[in-house]
Amino acid sequence: MSLAQYLSENQDQFQADLFRLLEIPSVSTDPARKGEVARCAEEVKRQMLQAGLEQVQVFETPGHPVVYGQWLGAVDAPTVLVYGHYDVQPEDPVDLWTSPPFTPTIRDGKVYARGATDDKGQFIAHVKAVQALMKSEGQLPVNVKFVIEGEEEIGSRNLAPFLESHRELLAADVLVVSDSAMFAPGQPSIVYGLRGLAYVEVEVFGADSDLHSGVFGGAVPNPGFELAKIISQLKDEQGRITVPGFYDKVVDLTAQERSDYARLPFDAEEFRKELNVPGLSGEAGYTPLEHRSGRPTLEVNGIGRLRFLQERGPMTDQLRGMQQPALGIALATRLQDLFAMQLPSRPHRFQIVLTELKIALSLTMRGHRQLGGGPIADFQVSGHQEHLQAGLHIEGMMTF
Ligand SMILES: [Zn+2]
Repeated sequence: MSLAQYLSENQDQFQADLFRLLEIPSVSTDPARKGEVARCAEEVKRQMLQAGLEQVQVFETPGHPVVYGQWLGAVDAPTVLVYGHYDVQPEDPVDLWTSPPFTPTIRDGKVYARGATDDKGQFIAHVKAVQALMKSEGQLPVNVKFVIEGEEEIGSRNLAPFLESHRELLAADVLVVSDSAMFAPGQPSIVYGLRGLAYVEVEVFGADSDLHSGVFGGAVPNPGFELAKIISQLKDEQGRITVPGFYDKVVDLTAQERSDYARLPFDAEEFRKELNVPGLSGEAGYTPLEHRSGRPTLEVNGIGRLRFLQERGPMTDQLRGMQQPALGIALATRLQDLFAMQLPSRPHRFQIVLTELKIALSLTMRGHRQLGGGPIADFQVSGHQEHLQAGLHIEGMMTF
């Protein structure tokens, strides 16, 4: 039986297996669901075995387990390590879902479920691609190893130590990250670079007690205004980020990359309309598409607990962006400087808390080329309408 024939004849089974994964609420952030996360790891193991992978094992960690499987029957061929994760984001607010998040439902040819495109749909496409090749041709053209973790949504805490202690088992020539997307239906993509993440939380406090704006307003600096002024100075008029050293290690796009970007089917005006925003932003001299994946950014990720009257509470800001942990510190210093410039007499207490530093997947794979294999397109990740286009799944497997 040919590969294409196997793929088309087994679509129902592939879909049933995908649904079995999607039905398990493997929400890693929720301690009450630790058992569900473990159950999902077992289901991943079952499907790896079914695909013909060998040495399939569920490795316990201090947190959620890592599932491993391999097939090393290709002599003198390179070894491809596929990364993915079987944990999902919480489904809240659950009433915003049209169909229940853990009851996969097909509407308009799309599978709606939590985890459909982050990342159960993707990594299982890779597993099924192995299955299809094994069942139709009896072998693979390359050696493969799979590492499917259960803690991506909580910062992959135990992945680095796991990789460190299983160096030999995981040795590979190429790494494929399944947690990415196709550019568009019919347009497979190879993602060879990812933006990392550095994250700081800023707290601004005003006076020691709550102040009535009608009595104190105008005479006392307002924390909301002070923070807004600082944020507005983090980028200049040209859209350049003003954190010293921010661009030092940024590898600029080559002429070839820029012309490749330009050839992709992307319409900035369509994109703007789809998002319903009045205009697009960004660093002068770069296109929106280049901004989205080829350039670093700095973003305000949330402003919370704003209480200026009656109720005391800090104002919290989360700024996201950048690719080096050192830049998280540079950003914190920049914020500190701006604040000091603004209020030399320091009537406010100002704190910067570095809450999270996360470097996307590059931390443990030094020396390996990173490829994000994109088997999925037309998706919405992690929102309350997470979905994946059903037919594309097969296309994704073919691509792999
Ligand atoms: Zn993911």
